[in-house]
Amino acid sequence: MDQFYHEVACAACSRLRRRCINACIMRPYFPPGDDLNFINVHFTFTNNNVERWITLRETEEQKRDLVRALKWEAGQRLFNPIEGSYAVCMRQRQRITELNAQVQFLLMMVDHFNQQQ
Ligand SMILES: [Zn+2]
Repeated sequence: MDQFYHEVACAACSRLRRRCINACIMRPYFPPGDDLNFINVHFTFTNNNVERWITLRETEEQKRDLVRALKWEAGQRLFNPIEGSYAVCMRQRQRITELNAQVQFLLMMVDHFNQQQ
């Protein structure tokens, strides 16, 4: 069977030193030149897992969401190798706690104002 190869390999095939076939599963998500994102995702999750997870998703939207999430997660892990995305979740949790406290204070002020009317 004749295989068509892309003249310029996608970032995944380029980094893995393989020819980028026409049906390359990684090409839509790691186009040529997207090497940094691919390296981050590959070192965090390994290419085999990423390819398997992509094939398990049914729709193109699900596949794009998956790769977007993996890129974000790998970026967080690169930025903070110890806590990764957990640090982001904890910051957001702290922010929610602070905002809830402000809401409670404002509700108390409204209640106090209404009682004086
Ligand atoms: Zn490729």
